[in-house]
Amino acid sequence: MGRRVQRIKRMTGSKKGGKSSEPRCGLCGKRGKLTRTECCGNWICDDEDKYVLFSFARNSCHRNHRRYTLCGFHHTERHEGRWQDCAVCRDEIETEMYVHYGTNEYNFEKLSNPPKYEPTKCAGCGAVIVMSKGGYSCGPKGYLCMKCTEKEFGRMP
Ligand SMILES: [Zn+2]
Ligand SMILES: [Zn+2]
Ligand SMILES: [Zn+2]
Ligand SMILES: [Zn+2]
Repeated sequence: MGRRVQRIKRMTGSKKGGKSSEPRCGLCGKRGKLTRTECCGNWICDDEDKYVLFSFARNSCHRNHRRYTLCGFHHTERHEGRWQDCAVCRDEIETEMYVHYGTNEYNFEKLSNPPKYEPTKCAGCGAVIVMSKGGYSCGPKGYLCMKCTEKEFGRMP
């Protein structure tokens, strides 16, 4: 099997600020204050300073890519090689989240063959839990939806 390894080459001799090739954020398409991602070298909004600590807002392209994609995770964890082929990422992340991280809108390049997975179900009532949306807990019985979590542990104060 011939595996093509693509590397991002640093462009040399490209004019800065050329009118026709003005960079845009690869995620939202905006121009303006941009930076390149450390993980994959793509143009992205330099907007992390707008993020309000603990607000959990997902309005920062830079932060979203860094926190909610395999590309960002792979880079932060200092794995080797490409994230698309990384066995460590695949192993460490629950398949459902792995697929979500690899295919959500914060990716420049999406996972081409996302693995199949069984939907996660609540161990209490059997309701399907969408992990990327949150609102579940993980305990000795397995995953529990919010309702069953409250039944099991009582309401959080
Ligand atoms: Zn953006
Ligand atoms: Zn990246
Ligand atoms: Zn990895
Ligand atoms: Zn339940």
